[in-house]
Amino acid sequence: MIDRAQKALDILLEGNKNFVSGKSSALNRDINSLKALSQGQSPIACVVTCSDSRVIPELVFDKGFGDIFVVRCAGAVIGENILESVEYAVDHLNVPLVMVLSHDDCGVMKAAKSLYPKEPEHLQLLIRSVYEIIDDEAECYNEIARNYTLTKKRKLLKRSEILRKAHHEKKFEIVRAYLKFDTGEVVVVND
Ligand SMILES: [Zn+2]
Repeated sequence: MIDRAQKALDILLEGNKNFVSGKSSALNRDINSLKALSQGQSPIACVVTCSDSRVIPELVFDKGFGDIFVVRCAGAVIGENILESVEYAVDHLNVPLVMVLSHDDCGVMKAAKSLYPKEPEHLQLLIRSVYEIIDDEAECYNEIARNYTLTKKRKLLKRSEILRKAHHEKKFEIVRAYLKFDTGEVVVVND
């Protein structure tokens, strides 16, 4: 992994340790922190994650204003708007790390698992996207969420020429991770 990406990952995981142990430093969360950033931002990482109200990257990584560029959508499904947002983080904000973060008890994964293979009446784009990786033998929905991060990582590179080029030039790395609700721990998932 490139140095800048490893450093950013270390900072996030160190912050997660603080959070898990109940010793969050909670830096950069006051009004002065926001004022200091009024002319620009320079986040250390982009986190692509679910809109779930229990998944709050700034809290689980013990970070505050200006630290993380968060891209969210239910299920963290990679659509066009999500792709362009990540491109912005990499190409304009020069983040060295993109983390694809999934989580326990995801509503979109649950819905896909229970409906498969029926045509969904609601949430069609989200559920069809998860269908790509499941079959009749599919594991529990938490396992699906973990595995699905690999599809998301591949989609980011496959569907975006900007990301592919930047990745090829070693300007950033993509890591997969998973938030456990019982411990608050973020576990990096190896490819
Ligand atoms: Zn979710």
